Amino acid sequence: AQPVLAVVGRPNVGKSTLVNRILGRREAVVQDVPGVTRDRVAYDAYWSGRRFTLVDTGGWEPDATGLQAAVATQAELAMQTADAVLLVVDATIGATATDEAVARVLRRSKKPVLLAANKVDDDRLLADTAALWTLGLGEPRPVSALHGRSSGDLLDAIIAAL
Ligand code: GDP
Ligand code: MG
Repeated sequence: AQPVLAVVGRPNVGKSTLVNRILGRREAVVQDVPGVTRDRVAYDAYWSGRRFTLVDTGGWEPDATGLQAAVATQAELAMQTADAVLLVVDATIGATATDEAVARVLRRSKKPVLLAANKVDDDRLLADTAALWTLGLGEPRPVSALHGRSSGDLLDAIIAAL
């Protein structure tokens, strides 16, 4: 079976947009409304001669259980079922309490974890990217899922981790 990469993170950070960018086509549902990805959805992805399965997560609502707990649970599940995990953070917002809670879960992972600093649409946001080192998940990798900026570099890192 091909290796599995799970994409986790808060609603609206751009997970589905990034999944579409990686796929090179629009299959994941992108919405301005948080929590629109109904389920965990798996796609066949391909880069640099390697095939892998890409799992887009979401579907939680900030309900009674709390957003933070729901996202942490997704991260836990991703850690157990995927071969590598990609945490997506919105660099224009910076690390929120929820991002920190998820990072805390992922730091226990025995599998590779990559950190994508999304929405880095231009160089002025590189300082905000560097600020994400505080999450303790290694190098934050800047990317603009919307414009495609640096997505090739991120994919190279993903392939190296899988
Ligand atoms: P998800 O909830 O994490 O799956 O996030 P979505 O992929 O649905 O995106 C949420 C919003 O962020 C949408 O309005 C996207 O167009 C926007 N977005 C995603 N990636 C980028 C990016 O790289 N730059 C900017 N400026 N906006 C982005
Ligand atoms: Mg989504």
